[in-house]
Formats: sequence, structure tokens, C-alpha cells
Amino acid sequence: MQNKESSDRFIARTVDRYFRRLGPRAQVALCQLPLTVIIVGLVIAAPAAWPAVLTSELFIASLVLHALLFAGCLLVPWERLGPYAQLVIPILDLVAIGLSRNGAAPNLQGLSVLAIFPVIWLSASGMAAKTGIILSFFGPALIGLPSLLAKIPHITPADITTAVLLPFMMLAVSLAVRFASVNMRLQQRRLESQEAEMRNLLAASKENERLLHTILDTVDVGIIAVDADGKVLLVNDQQNHFESAARPVGHTLDADPSLKNDGDDTQPLLLSQDRKTPLPPDRHPVKRAIRGETFADHLVWFGESPRQRAVSTAARAIRNDDGGFDGAVVVFNDVTGLVEAISAKDEFVANVSHEFRTPLNAVIGNLDLVLEDEEALYPLAVERLEVAQRNAERLLALVSDLLVSASAAAHIYPRKTDLAGLVESSIGSAHLHAERSRVELDTDVPAPLWVHVDPLRIGQALDNLVSNAIKYSPDGGHVKVSARSEKGWVRLQVQDAGMGMTEAETSRIFTRFYRSAAAKEASIPGVGLGLSITKAIVERHGGEISCTSKPGAGSTFTVALPADGPPSQA
Ligand code: ADP
Repeated sequence: MQNKESSDRFIARTVDRYFRRLGPRAQVALCQLPLTVIIVGLVIAAPAAWPAVLTSELFIASLVLHALLFAGCLLVPWERLGPYAQLVIPILDLVAIGLSRNGAAPNLQGLSVLAIFPVIWLSASGMAAKTGIILSFFGPALIGLPSLLAKIPHITPADITTAVLLPFMMLAVSLAVRFASVNMRLQQRRLESQEAEMRNLLAASKENERLLHTILDTVDVGIIAVDADGKVLLVNDQQNHFESAARPVGHTLDADPSLKNDGDDTQPLLLSQDRKTPLPPDRHPVKRAIRGETFADHLVWFGESPRQRAVSTAARAIRNDDGGFDGAVVVFNDVTGLVEAISAKDEFVANVSHEFRTPLNAVIGNLDLVLEDEEALYPLAVERLEVAQRNAERLLALVSDLLVSASAAAHIYPRKTDLAGLVESSIGSAHLHAERSRVELDTDVPAPLWVHVDPLRIGQALDNLVSNAIKYSPDGGHVKVSARSEKGWVRLQVQDAGMGMTEAETSRIFTRFYRSAAAKEASIPGVGLGLSITKAIVERHGGEISCTSKPGAGSTFTVALPADGPPSQA
């Protein structure tokens, strides 16, 4: 229905466009052409069909008038006259048709029907409705009048009906044409206003697009927008800059790297947190976003030293009205300065901690020596020295933690490692602790389970998680360590049924020195550094750590690490 309507509109608009392209003379001649063609046909047929009409002076006069009218259409400079001047032609057409009709009577009675041409012209011309209707009625009425009068006094009802029928028919045609042309004009106006609205919308949308591009190119974060199929919709200047800086020297700028052939050295180099290992293809921020993942603070390194940049990436999905996935926006924020400041601070803390350890060891060693000879000391002095010893040991533990915390993530040496072996040795060293705390240890890890990690660091992270699980199960219970390999990743879980935490506490446990209220109240020893160290180690391996917990019901820590194949035999 709508298609038909639009194709009708298309035809009407095309005809209208071509008609407007003609000059005024050609336009007037075109309106007159159908009538002229019929008259010419009549003249050609007359000698054979109605030879008598050619003897009528009136008919000959009408032919001359028709000829003059058509010539007038072509010769009169209508463009210089008013818009309604040309209507003189259809009015004179009525006169010419009247002459033809009365000249050709009684041979060609039907000629009055030709009045339909001037009537349509007058009605569609846009002239005042009243004038048009009067002309359309009385013009044809006058055409039949002379032959009616000629029949006086022998007029029959059939004669009257014939004479009256024509003006009424023409009146009906005039009204129909007028309604149709009014309707057409209304439609045209509606179309024009729709077109104007569309033009305004288009201009507004172009303006918005310009504004959006200016904003996108002004901000100092890189932005990529992709559709649901991963096609790049938009890349801003800053992102192009990141990519070209990360591309091996001598290569030209191209579209988004993450979507192209993996391992192609014309593409920007994205590295994991160790700043050396190329990011696995499915960990590329844009690829993750295309899979519908929403994330924030995913740190990747662009390019190689010395132009290497630390970039924090985040992605949000674009949803359609039905909540379906329509694409994603990925944001790249250069945090090289911040990362360098943090590592400078860590280095400072590591240096200071290291410097503290030597004198502290000397203090503790000397206190141990003095306390070895307890009998030679006053009981009060022993008590005081023991307090000093305990605090010096606490200080040493704190300094050691700080040192580890600062350096844990700094250097890792990944190699193909059997995670099952690491779990086994971690459980083995936690055995005594667990027994004392009445905690049962359980493992569910298929052996061997290969991962590409630094065994020393991941062992340290695992020890932290297992010792926490035991430590925060004050009433005893069950701790289970399980691991599975899935889609290029190894997922390790440490699950306990201990004291658990609230959601708000769980969200803060990876922050340095944070301890939950329950842990402090229960006087469980600790300084709140273990998990931040664990997180740094895991992330250094390009992995992720998360925790789910419920107060009184226990906690589950999940570590995801990029897997690797078994070590080569060589
Ligand atoms: P520490 O154990 O030395 O306090 P961590 O960084 O290892 O430091 O842990 C930070 C805090 O997280 C702990 O103080 C404790 O409140 C909470 N926490 C860690 N592991 C668990 C766990 N398995 N169950 C409940 N709370 C935990």
C-alpha cells in the first residue's frame, strides 16, 4: 500500500518536474494539444465520413479559430503576461467547440463532448473556484443552446434533456478535477513540509556529527566504536596516534589493529602486563568488547620500548531498544605516567624496606642473644626485652611484606609450569597450619595442568590464598583448591567455609592495608598486604583475580591465568 502510494507520488513528481522544465509557451501548447489533435483527426476524417460538414461556414470558421488558438499558444509571449492570461485559450476553446458543434449539426451532435478539454484545463488551473464552476457550467450550456432554440416550437423533452445533460456533466467533471487537484496540492504541500523537515533533520544530524567528531578528536583518550560484527564504526585521532606509535617503525597507519590478522607485524603491538608477552588475540580489548564483555581498568602495553605506553582500557556494550547487543565502545587511556610513578614509589619502598631489614635483623639478633641468658636478667627486664623482641619481629614481618609487595610484580620469569605441582606443594606447606586450625584441606586439580607462569610468584600467590582461607576459618572447616583448563585459560579456585565478608568489604580486599572489620575484631594476625601482592602477581601474568563471599558462609577466590601447552621435550 505504502509502496504503491510512493510510486504514484514518484510518477506525479516526475511528470510535474518535466512539465515545469518546459517554457510557458510549450506548457500552454501542451494543454491545448489533445483538443487540437482531435480536431485535426476530425478534419482528416470529414471528407469521407461527413462531407456535408465541410460545406458549413460555421464549421469552417470553428476550424480557423481552433488553428488560431493553437498558433496563439505557441506564439503569444505568455511569460510576459499574468499567470491567468493563458486561460483565455480554454475559454475561446469553448467558443470554437460551440461553433464546430452548431456548424456540424445535425451530423456531428456529439462534438459538444469536446468541451471536456477546456473544462478540465479551467478546473485544474487554480483559478477562483466560483469562476471556474460558472465557466464549466455555462460554457457547455451555451454550446447546446442555439440548436435547442432552433427547434422552437417543436422542442421535445428529449431535446431539453440532451441540452441540459452536457452542462451538468461538465459541472461534475469540473468538481471532480477541482477536488483531485486540491487533494494533490495538499499532498504536495505535505510532501514539501516533510522534505523540509528531513532537510532540517539531516542538517541537525550533520551538525551533531561534526560536534561529536570535534569532541572525540579533542579528548586525550583513544576511542573505538565497533558494531556487533566487529566492523569499526569510528576511531578518533588519539587512538590513531596510539596505534601508529605502537606500530613497528616504517609501517603505515591502518584501521583497528585488534581485528586484523594476528601476528601481522604491520599491526600495532599489544603486550601483556609483563611488557614483553604479546597479548593473546582473544584478550585484545576490542575483541573482548565484540564478545559483549564489559570491563574497566584492563591494562595493556602498546608498542615496544622506548616508545612503549601503558594504556588502561575499558569497554561498554551498545544495546538496542530490545536490550540486544549492537556493538561496543572501547576507550584507551594513556596511564604511562601513573604506572611509572607507582613503580618509582614501589622501588622507593623496596629500597627503604631493604635498608630497614639489616638494622632490624641486628636488633632482633642482639635481643635473641641477650634473652638466651635469661637468668642473668631481672624478670622485669626480660618482660620488657620480650616486648621489644615481639615488636621488632612484627616490624621485620611488615618490612618484608612491604618489600615483597613492592617487588612482587616487578619481575616475573614465566615458563611452562605444572599448576597441579604448585598446588600440591602449597597444600603440603599449609598442612601444619590447617591441622592446628582444625581445617580440612582438599584438592581437585587434574595433573599435569600446564600454565605459562613464574612458578615462584604463582606459588607465592597460591600460598597467600590458601593461608588466608585457613586463617579466616577460625572455627575450623573445609578448604578446597580446584583448577580447570577452559578455552585457553586455567581457572583456579580457593574455596573456604569460613567467616566470609560483606559485599562492600569484598570489593576492597585487594587494596593495600585493607582488613575487614571482622578480621580485626577477631584479632586474626595480618597487615592487609597479602591480597594486593597476589593481585599484582596474577595481573603481571596477564591474568585476573576475583572474589565472591558471604558473611558467615565463606569465600571463593578465583584466579584466571592464560594457559599454555606442555613444555617441549627439547
Ligand atoms: P591479611 O590477611 O594480612 O590481613 P590480605 O591482603 O591477605 O591481608 O587480606 C586482606 C583482608 O581480606 C583480610 O584482612 C581479611 O579481612 C580479608 N580476607 C582475605 N581472605 C579472606 C578469606 N578467605 N575469608 C575472609 N576474609 C578474607
